[in-house]
Amino acid sequence: MNEYANASTTLPTQQLYIGGRYVDATSGETFETINPATNQVICEVQQASQGDVDDAVAAAQAGFAVWSAMPAMERTRIMLKAVEILRERNDEIAHLETLDSGKPLSETTTVDIVSGADQIEYYAGLISMLHGQHFDFPPNGFASVKREPLGVCAGIGAWNYPVQIAMWKSAPALACGNSFIFKPAELTPLTALKLAEVYTAAGLPDGVFNVVQGDYRVGQMLSRHESIAKISLTGEVGTGKKVMADAATTLKGVTLELGGKSPIIVFDDADLDNAVNATLVANFYSAGEVCSNGTRVFVQRGLYEAFVAKLGPRTEALKIGDPFDPDVMVGPLISREHHSKVMGYMDAALASTARHVCGGSVPDDVALAHGNYVTPAIFADCDDEMSFVREEVFGPLMSVLPFDDEDEVLHRANDTNYGLSGAVFTRDFARAHRVANAIEAGNVWINSYNDLPPSIPFGGYKQSGYGRENGLVTLDHFTQWKTIYANLGDFEAYY
Ligand code: NDP
Repeated sequence: MNEYANASTTLPTQQLYIGGRYVDATSGETFETINPATNQVICEVQQASQGDVDDAVAAAQAGFAVWSAMPAMERTRIMLKAVEILRERNDEIAHLETLDSGKPLSETTTVDIVSGADQIEYYAGLISMLHGQHFDFPPNGFASVKREPLGVCAGIGAWNYPVQIAMWKSAPALACGNSFIFKPAELTPLTALKLAEVYTAAGLPDGVFNVVQGDYRVGQMLSRHESIAKISLTGEVGTGKKVMADAATTLKGVTLELGGKSPIIVFDDADLDNAVNATLVANFYSAGEVCSNGTRVFVQRGLYEAFVAKLGPRTEALKIGDPFDPDVMVGPLISREHHSKVMGYMDAALASTARHVCGGSVPDDVALAHGNYVTPAIFADCDDEMSFVREEVFGPLMSVLPFDDEDEVLHRANDTNYGLSGAVFTRDFARAHRVANAIEAGNVWINSYNDLPPSIPFGGYKQSGYGRENGLVTLDHFTQWKTIYANLGDFEAYY
């Protein structure tokens, strides 16, 4: 595609990307990818067969042999070249992402590709730093312990950050010398193919990054494949459990980035405007389709009514509509099916004893009638046991809950099987750290939300995940340690 996508763009049937080029799938099956803003079909996409997945693995094995033998600086240069091309093609890929995912251009042009490119840049810079250890065993021995890549690794993506997830997963894998096979979510298959093009244009050897398309069956083929050494999933908790069980059949390593129902705790002494600003971002960015969102907002009673009073008008002022309109802040939800799931939670909230502050309905603008739109909703005076308070909605539904003291709110905030994120808003330095330490989650922000620089590990406690993405720790997930013990003297028999 040479021009930027717009709301009515349609595309030819999309293929797989294996061995550095587009190839036809052999399954004979295709599926549709649909524009969430209009529910028009964008194009058909070919579904990979087991044979295609096997071909991708064979291509990745061949790519691995070349890539893992390449000098570190050469690999760094190729990855940095990919970063350069991604930045040149930022707007084009962002428009395609908006078309396929419904995420507003205001987000995709400034965050999705930008943050993914940063990730690749960060890991490219670490390639030369991947070193081992040396141990002396006098008088006649020494050992070297070095990192080796795993081989062929695979990633399975969710639909909420399609191209960013492909970059978050492939960047550390490639930096460690592995090759990679990525399966995008069936709902958002388009932009991972652009990433594959970019990698190839940057000089990545054929087969080092491959894209196989399809539904959960293709995910299963990857999770179960005996020649794949590692699988990294972003998805729901239930999917994480299935992928882990499938990966266990060949004892491959797993990284799981799963769902959340994260708490934001706002104390009486918090800066009200900062807390309101962060809470809005933590609930309505990407129409609430963000895993780390802080959807249970606990506010101490002294600030409670002032907080709710500010939130309502600020939320109602958010511009909802055509994601290609650069001023739009809230686009459509990903699919009709997901829209009805989210509307089910909105209906449950409206029927509950919670106070309806705003939103939760289909907008009455006729121009939006064909898209999966819902107005951002706030419910106050919620109860911890309400279904929409306990379960991940993955839509623009904020629950506000009053609390009295620190012990009480920590107990309530931690009363969940999820543990992805959380935040505390207070001007009290000691309390900020005490509460941040006590929140049972992998990522906690103090007076902020959803900051995710590439150098900082990200991942979940409890059922929100396993392993980490970003940061140095990820290098351990994409390498294995090889110990070589050398004896310089004679070997004496014990017997
Ligand atoms: P799903 O779990 O439904 O799907 C995720 C991916 O797994 C898709 O590519 C899907 O394929 C595939 N898949 C589904 N079933 C299987 C299976 N049995 N074996 C292998 N692969 C399978 O998640 P969603 O796409 O609906 O994404 C939303 C979820 O992702 C939310 O729970 C959200 O919290 C979580 N998420 C977590 C993040 C994190 O970093 N912690 C970040 C973003 C989202 P198909 O395309 O056919 O559905």
